[in-house]
Amino acid sequence: MRGKNGIKWMMAVLAALVILIGTAAHTAPTALDTKEPSARDAAGDSARLAASCQVTQTMGFARCGHSVTRRVALPDALAGADFEAARQYYDLWQIDSFAPEHMEMSREIPLYCPMHQVLTVNEAGEIILTQNAYGDGMAVVAQYEKTVGDFDDVDRDALTLGIGFDSREEAETWLKAH
Ligand SMILES: [Zn+2]
Repeated sequence: MRGKNGIKWMMAVLAALVILIGTAAHTAPTALDTKEPSARDAAGDSARLAASCQVTQTMGFARCGHSVTRRVALPDALAGADFEAARQYYDLWQIDSFAPEHMEMSREIPLYCPMHQVLTVNEAGEIILTQNAYGDGMAVVAQYEKTVGDFDDVDRDALTLGIGFDSREEAETWLKAH
């Protein structure tokens, strides 16, 4: 039962992310055309974030090229904050535009996005199937009897880096064939 609940939960996460990606497709052109540092200069050093400020966060996933954008409310602690305070608060992000009512930021993540099933190797050398469940972290979906020692150098390197598939079935078909 635990497995079934896990899958249901994963499907809910995926559904939410698909919605987010859909939203991203509509908002990306305006959200991302101000990558230049000058976005900050245009706003001026004296600009302060309003309590009602909307925050747009775009995560780009380097392994697959997909991106996810979400909009969140400004944390209470940042009401009235200037650019420097916001930059320090969001130290993992690059702030792409900064204005009292809307702040946009982006971040490059060296992983596959949540839409993929990724075969890789755990610390014990066992082959595992993982999925991005946290944005910047992978969750283990399944574990197999094969170990990294069962593969040749090329496949071993690829597995260590992680091989992305569209579905668990495709991942397991690949595993059987190698
Ligand atoms: Zn992806």
